[in-house]
Amino acid sequence: MIHRVIGYRARQEFAAAMRFDEKEHPQIPPAGTAPPPRLLYLHVPFCERLCPYCSFNRVVFEEDLCRRYFDALRKEIRLYRELGYTFGGIYVGGGTPTVLIEELAETLAVARDCFPIREISVETNPNHLTEKNLLRLRDSHVNRLSVGVQSFDDGLLKRMDRYEKYGSGETIARRLKELRGVFDTLNADMIFNFPSQDLDMLKRDLDILTDIEAEQVTFYPLMISDMTRRKVVDALGNVSGGNEKRFYREIVRRLVPAYRFSSAWCFSRKGTMIDEYIVDYDEYAGLGSGSIGYLNGICYANTFHIPAYIDQVNRGRLPLMATRTFSLRDRVRYDFLMRLFGGSLNLKGLEEKYPGRLYRVLWLDLALFSLIGAIRYTGEDYRLTDQGRYAWVIMMREFFTAVNNFRDFCRGGLGGGNTPV
Ligand code: SF4
Repeated sequence: MIHRVIGYRARQEFAAAMRFDEKEHPQIPPAGTAPPPRLLYLHVPFCERLCPYCSFNRVVFEEDLCRRYFDALRKEIRLYRELGYTFGGIYVGGGTPTVLIEELAETLAVARDCFPIREISVETNPNHLTEKNLLRLRDSHVNRLSVGVQSFDDGLLKRMDRYEKYGSGETIARRLKELRGVFDTLNADMIFNFPSQDLDMLKRDLDILTDIEAEQVTFYPLMISDMTRRKVVDALGNVSGGNEKRFYREIVRRLVPAYRFSSAWCFSRKGTMIDEYIVDYDEYAGLGSGSIGYLNGICYANTFHIPAYIDQVNRGRLPLMATRTFSLRDRVRYDFLMRLFGGSLNLKGLEEKYPGRLYRVLWLDLALFSLIGAIRYTGEDYRLTDQGRYAWVIMMREFFTAVNNFRDFCRGGLGGGNTPV
């Protein structure tokens, strides 16, 4: 019951937060003189095969368009430098960023040339774990490689249309095992609570992860937008939240304490690994078509239409489509959500950021989540309890679902989208 209320409230709040103002002139804030550590998010929206459950901004790979896109991405990076921005880390997400490895390597070289980059994370798919690609990624100073596995279950992989293109569960597990130690952090990106997935399937996934001693595992619940729901039902069966809590408990039971919590759904073996960027960075710029950025209280989205994106950047303009200026209350609540997703909320740090306003915004949340035993005050900070972690899985599921719904909306409306997929 409590979890349903949390989910309902979060859904309402995040749906409202992701309503961008079509009348607001799209803009990003000035770079500022003493900004917090910022991340450069680069989006590469091309995939060789489109998975039915996916709500990211992605299109079928076309080589010529993709090359022109990477060229525009490099120009957009330089535009941010001209505006005085600087970044300490890069996250390249997709889509499939490694779809043209030499273009990716050139883009990372430009970004490293422009900014004092300390860490680079790149997403990839299992079929791209070739020797040539791995060498290019290592030469490009990639520290964290996140591999989209989803599940090792061949039946599920076939229903997701991933088996043929990305390999069987056994092949993927073997590749991951061979890669141990090659990067500072090798992350296996997993999904739980697929329709038709049962507890035995999940246990086999956990057996394999334990056997291959995966260094880091991100295990998040299936999150589908309203528009992809039909496709998911057709391909995979009815979506139900009924098993989510049981499955999450099983994941935690099997992975902890060999792994520590990097976030409510990210598990790392060592203390020094690079975690999810929304936990590690308060602010990030979103570059590439359909990227979403968050800089100094302004949330913004780039155009989702790839030719329009390339055209705008080639004219020397930021390809902004919509912005939303967060109120102080929105900003405090965003930090509250993300910091506790990472496990703890340091009050002193947040009070310095929002002098005199913190408790006025958060008192009710702090009281209610303490009352239901989801957070605990240590004298310095609030920490998620074991029970609270699942509450945060629900909240983050709803947060990303709201983002996915926003993406669907943008593809079909604001600023135009690509051909529906
Ligand atoms: S899940 Fe990954 S590979 Fe599949 S369509 Fe989405 S971005 Fe592409």
